Amino acid sequence: MDKVKVRFAPSPTGPLHIGGARSALFNYLYALNQGGELVLRIEDTDLERSKREYEEEIIDSLKWLGITWNEGIGAGGENGPYRQTERLDIYSKYVQQLLDSGQAYYCYCTEEELEDERQALMAKGEMPRYMGKCRNLSDAEREERQKQGIRPTVRFKVPENKEYVVDDMVRGQVSFGSDNIGDFIIVKSDGIPTYNFAVVIDDTLMGITHVVRAEEHLSNTPRQLMLYDALGFSHPRFAHISLILGSDRQKMSKRHGATSLIQYREKGYLPEAMFNFLAFMGWSPEGEEQILSPEQIIASFSMNRVAKSPAVFDLDKLNWLNQQYIKQKDIDELRVLLKPFLDKSIYRAELDKLDDARFNILMQAVHDRLVCLGDIDQVLAIFFQEVEYEEEAVEALKGEEVVKVLDLFCAELPEPEEIDQIKQYLKEVVKKSGLKGKNVYMPLRAALTGQLHGMDMPYLILIWGRDECIRRINRAKTIVSD
Ligand code: GLU
Repeated sequence: MDKVKVRFAPSPTGPLHIGGARSALFNYLYALNQGGELVLRIEDTDLERSKREYEEEIIDSLKWLGITWNEGIGAGGENGPYRQTERLDIYSKYVQQLLDSGQAYYCYCTEEELEDERQALMAKGEMPRYMGKCRNLSDAEREERQKQGIRPTVRFKVPENKEYVVDDMVRGQVSFGSDNIGDFIIVKSDGIPTYNFAVVIDDTLMGITHVVRAEEHLSNTPRQLMLYDALGFSHPRFAHISLILGSDRQKMSKRHGATSLIQYREKGYLPEAMFNFLAFMGWSPEGEEQILSPEQIIASFSMNRVAKSPAVFDLDKLNWLNQQYIKQKDIDELRVLLKPFLDKSIYRAELDKLDDARFNILMQAVHDRLVCLGDIDQVLAIFFQEVEYEEEAVEALKGEEVVKVLDLFCAELPEPEEIDQIKQYLKEVVKKSGLKGKNVYMPLRAALTGQLHGMDMPYLILIWGRDECIRRINRAKTIVSD
């Protein structure tokens, strides 16, 4: 068999969405698993909606995710150009071939005529489709319309009464009758080819062996098969991967929160977590393991294990994965990753006051608590915000012997320098109090933080320093005496 060659062919009409990223990833995984290659092609034939900024954003997102390609935009190759609007000359040769062989024709129908036809068919309960008005125009009729200055489209003559079977690697055999498909446009009146036409030419000339793409394109595939046949090309194999649904099982949309990869990046999801998460959206390896490296995923990826049913976007799972990947980082790595978030932190001024040792301790403190890097201010709040006493903390402060505990804590509190030193000091306070550990730690935590749960106290004490601890305790005492 030929070496596997797949492509990711985004339309640069918006940022890279979760669905697009998943398609790109499955192409990448399949290519690498098969020892094949990936091409990046830009399908920008929608002139109005396509933008260079989006193309750049898509490329940035792919790179961020860790997807690399062997050919195409940014990688070069022998089959370029790789942007469809730069391939117009190539397409026109094949359009001419279809016109010359009578498999395509000029269509002069106006928007209104087409709309009237649609309405009439729908009124009869029939599938709206082009019924071939311009299929058999005489030369004279054509000239007449040309003279009127109408700029024609080019339509492909759909073979009548034929069955087209897509032998899909994910969905199995799916057949389409040609009679439900009207002669479709392959070149728009502005001379730009349509997606269905350009994709066939490009996939052929670029030597694509497998087309792995979103399920929404399955219904386009019979049209593409017709074009492959008409042009005398053999067609690649197809794999249509299922839709992505939101947690309410509706098609994923903005309603479900962030949909573009950039948004996840900005919130501080790690690319490794996203890679892992997206790979498992519609595919699963054998076994129960949920956290796999790109190498492991590549090694076990197979189309046989790609699900036909829709994938559901499970934000809790992504959060869980991201937290696991953050935990795997060491403190130096975490510092680097957090830098852009800390630069924008509302606690910037407080952070600047910390010496390096304390800053590192702070990093250790937040390490296990971050779901995503963008949560950093939320996790830091306990360190830098004025105490707000929760009701249960107020209750705890009203217990017996609370004042004694608070006084004992303050009595010989040293300037904290190390976590172990603080742990030791707290143990001594417990000992001196003669109380159970819980009866010391709970009121202390309530007094210092206003809460009964949360960040380990030694971290807080170390970052605050002696004076701030005593200030907090004194403030809490006013509640105890209320
Ligand atoms: N440009 C198409 C899209 O972004 C890709 C279609 C294909 O992969 O054939 O949906």
